[in-house]
Amino acid sequence: MSETPWIGPRGQVMRRLELHLTYTCPERCVFCSEDHRMARFKPYPVTWGRVATTLRTHAARGVQHLHITGGEPSIHPRFVDTLRLAKRLGMRTSVGSIGTMLQRPDFAARAMPFLDEGLFSLHGPTAEVHDALTRRPGSFERVTRALSTAREMNPDFLPCVNTVLVRPNAAHLPDTVALADSLGASLIVVSNLTPEGAGLDNYEALAVPLEALRALVPQVVPRARRAILRFFGVPYCLLGEHAALSNDLHWDPRVTVEWAAHPGRVAFEGVYSWDPGRKRVYTDACGGCAMKGVCMGVFDRYAELWPTDALNPLSPAQEAS
Ligand code: SF4
Repeated sequence: MSETPWIGPRGQVMRRLELHLTYTCPERCVFCSEDHRMARFKPYPVTWGRVATTLRTHAARGVQHLHITGGEPSIHPRFVDTLRLAKRLGMRTSVGSIGTMLQRPDFAARAMPFLDEGLFSLHGPTAEVHDALTRRPGSFERVTRALSTAREMNPDFLPCVNTVLVRPNAAHLPDTVALADSLGASLIVVSNLTPEGAGLDNYEALAVPLEALRALVPQVVPRARRAILRFFGVPYCLLGEHAALSNDLHWDPRVTVEWAAHPGRVAFEGVYSWDPGRKRVYTDACGGCAMKGVCMGVFDRYAELWPTDALNPLSPAQEAS
């Protein structure tokens, strides 16, 4: 019997489950937002019993989309079983991956019949740029092969790309987007560096200044010729005429199921997010902005470290235009 769905403060219905399937990864990305949690929770495997209970519980409460993340989720020994069970429960399935296992045709042949979408991590237009950020030689080759293999094996598969924007790859961003587009990505998410995990540890060295972000946007947009482009973690007012590409406008509530630390114990539990405002704050400038409440502002660490004069609060007339 189906149970009552989770309802958010503005009447939103929770339809999306993000499941952290593993806390290990073969890469060592300089900006990894999960770096601290991976170090903390690596000794706690996510067992098949936990996975199956999580999927069944959430399906019963109306969750329709499973996104599997990690670490690198494809290395979990029950990865394909997780996808298979989700499909049996009527869910749409997606994975966030750097391509570790999906680049292997034998593995992809087992997984692809149950996988609807993939968000592949591509952080540069060349092996030199990408591998310097993942700190593992061959990473660029593996993730581009995984994307191509997935597309070949399932014509209905939705291939997407996530590229994390940091100072070392900022000048390459237009070419990275062009490459993702040419590889057949349907959606390209440009993710501004989030101050979490290694991304927090290295934030001062890696974060792109707001002024540079604003200047990059018009260079990047025309390079996505077929793909839909989204900017995650970028203040709405920096996007100018491309503000409709703000990910803040295209975001679904989600429950993230992961290990969490409590005094004297750890628990595998759900964290409920009803807006994309994690780690983001409003500045004084945002106070009079017509987009406050839709746009989630700037990252908290950025506002602590640097001036935010580049923000450009919008009047009600600008919002309507
Ligand atoms: S001024 Fe603040 S709330 Fe308004 S669009 Fe810019 S960052 Fe967002």
